Amino acid sequence: MFLLIPHCLECRCISLGIELLIPDRFNSCNKACCVCGSLKADLKLEDRVYICVRGNRMDKDLNAAINLEDARLIQSRLKMIHAVG
Ligand SMILES: [Zn+2]
Repeated sequence: MFLLIPHCLECRCISLGIELLIPDRFNSCNKACCVCGSLKADLKLEDRVYICVRGNRMDKDLNAAINLEDARLIQSRLKMIHAVG
């Protein structure tokens, strides 16, 4: 059952023409502050607001989405660098 979910996501993304980005299980995209990069180790699944020790306060899912987008951009730039060089 759980093995079908990534396959279904992949098929759906292909049909929509969008890139599927699955972070590895050790990726800290949901625990890192998207503004300063500091980690919040005690962030719980039920927490809805991300509060950084340096002052950033925002929706937890938005914070994770920004971190994923940053990771995607970095990955994309690395592919371009490897393609050129
Ligand atoms: Zn921060």
